[in-house]
Amino acid sequence: MPIQGVYTDNYMPVGDILTMAVCYVIIIVMFFSFIKRTRSFRVFLIILLFLILASITNVAYYTVLKHTGLQGAPIAGALRLIMHASLFIIFFLFTRYIAIVTDLTHKVSLWSSFIGGIITCFVIIWDLIDTLDTRRGFRITEAGIQTGTDVFMIGYIAYVILLGFLLIYVRNRIYKRVLYGYYYTVILAVALNLIQHFAGQSSLTVGSFLLPVVAMFYIMHSNPYDVRLGSINISAMDDMIRFYREKKIPFGYMSLFMHTFSESHTSVPASMQETIRRFSSSYFRDARLFHVSSGHFLLIFSQKRNPDYQERISSILKAFTTEHARFRQDYKIVIGSCTDQLSNHNEYISFIRNIHRNMEENSIHFVTEKDSADYDRAAYILRELTDIYRVRRLDDPRVLVYCQPVYNIRLGRYDTAEALMRLNLKETGIVYPDQFIHLAEENGYIHVLTQIILHKTCEAVRTLIAEGYSFTRISVNVSALELKDQYFCRDITGIIEESEIPGNRVAIELTESQDESDFLIMQQRINELKDLGIKFYLDDFGTGYSSLERIMQLPFDIIKFDRSLVIASASNSRSAQIVSNMARLFAEMDFSVLYEGVEDTGDEQRCIGMSASYLQGYKYSRPVPIDEMRHFFSLSA
Ligand code: C2E
Ligand code: CA
Ligand code: CA
Repeated sequence: MPIQGVYTDNYMPVGDILTMAVCYVIIIVMFFSFIKRTRSFRVFLIILLFLILASITNVAYYTVLKHTGLQGAPIAGALRLIMHASLFIIFFLFTRYIAIVTDLTHKVSLWSSFIGGIITCFVIIWDLIDTLDTRRGFRITEAGIQTGTDVFMIGYIAYVILLGFLLIYVRNRIYKRVLYGYYYTVILAVALNLIQHFAGQSSLTVGSFLLPVVAMFYIMHSNPYDVRLGSINISAMDDMIRFYREKKIPFGYMSLFMHTFSESHTSVPASMQETIRRFSSSYFRDARLFHVSSGHFLLIFSQKRNPDYQERISSILKAFTTEHARFRQDYKIVIGSCTDQLSNHNEYISFIRNIHRNMEENSIHFVTEKDSADYDRAAYILRELTDIYRVRRLDDPRVLVYCQPVYNIRLGRYDTAEALMRLNLKETGIVYPDQFIHLAEENGYIHVLTQIILHKTCEAVRTLIAEGYSFTRISVNVSALELKDQYFCRDITGIIEESEIPGNRVAIELTESQDESDFLIMQQRINELKDLGIKFYLDDFGTGYSSLERIMQLPFDIIKFDRSLVIASASNSRSAQIVSNMARLFAEMDFSVLYEGVEDTGDEQRCIGMSASYLQGYKYSRPVPIDEMRHFFSLSA
């Protein structure tokens, strides 16, 4: 006889059915949205499976109670046990999940798993004993369902405390907004369970576990998919690489970079997005488009599924030319195939960016062996730079100071010089700035290099002074990026004071910046350091979009006219007149004008005729090791 009433009145299966349905949807979404298959992702997947199991057994449990009655007790007991066990395994997986996503130290992670494991085992074993003990444990009688001690509630409270403690413990290891997202969902889940408990309800027990799961899914595992472009976030590329590697499927890629969007961080206009989407889906079988960054797209296709990929590439490029006539955006296209040299999306992207550096705008480059060799070299240089940054030795022997003398026209001799950095590395020998300054800047190492070069320059200046050489100062190059560092002035003055030379024996060369906020910081820093007597040079004048008005507002001492202006002044009389007038304007405003890249007597004569105070270039000397400055500076009488 089925039992009605007392056993099942407080339960409706909607909560469990909905939980199951939502879990299924999440699983479906997961497999269609290219989510990164990380470790936390796998734990998450197992949580979902146990949640489905818990909902199924819970529905089954109440169904058995409803339809079989007293004789159904063993089956109902077993189902109840599985449901409880699933929920406590989920609790345990929550602790693992938190430990993984927050990268907890081994010790804390071990302890939390240990305590969680004990609670879970305790509840399961107790429940098992309770289920097997038909006299005092779980049993169905005429009076209703009887159980021993309610360990479920005890275990639940123990886990709320453990997880609450963990979530507070990790508060500084996780992005605050994400953390608050979890706090609010966990509070809601616990509140829901308490409310239903006091209302004598049990329909939402499993459902309350769904809430943190939905939060986890959205916060940690959602992967932005751009519907219009049909592109996927770049981090999903790693999965694809791994998949192709495991299956030994070779793949090719086409990269499209448009600097306009990259620099302005504006998104590509809708009509272009539409074209890109059409291109990425109609020329290859099974190709995927990744959105690397603003204005940079990467199309990856299987070469196995597209054996005629070379023809396909030709036709896509042909069609591209037509489209380009329409949109007229500058581009760089790189085309290559997978290689064992690169193992994740970051490496592919730095590889492509390394190629961009030596590419003309509006050109197409097919990857060659040489690109791989260049990339290896750059990767080696970057490793060495990382090490130089890490050890922070001001006398690091890998950093060399070269120096180029500067001719002072009024004095008729060399009285200043510019310090130029070189690296001396074991595997490459001397490395020039064009191969490492950008790497140092991009990776945040440049300020340490500046400190090293300034220290070495100050030491050389001190020695030269002690030996009686007469010279005014030596200038050092500083990247505009460094000025943003709040300790910039402190670092610079610290090094100069340590070497016990007067501040006016060194100078700093800076290039102009477009940014308004950079301008204000630059003004502030220059003024602070000028108080110590340090002189300032504006480097590379004529290469950017110079605003004369702004430059005049900054207290520079010397304006360095770039070699491109020296060349321009030789090309036609109109250019010569512009350069000459600008130089005169600066000279009249009490700035000194220095011409860079003076290579021959022709350059020299022209520059002298254009308000020059200083001349620098190969005509006088190439950069030489700083010790050789003795050949250029004279000994004072
Ligand atoms: P820059 O500051 O404009 O340095 C002048 C560059 O022009 C030097 O190249 C120099 O060797 C070269 N040069 C000198 N005379 C002539 C000439 O007559 N004709 C031609 N065509 N070139 C000439 P280098 O040493 O390769 O340095 C390149 C750039 O790397 C520098 O340009 C500077 O922007 C950067 N750099 C060099 N050392 C440092 C440093 O210690 N810190 C930072 N932040 N940047 C540095
Ligand atoms: Ca310079
Ligand atoms: Ca320069």
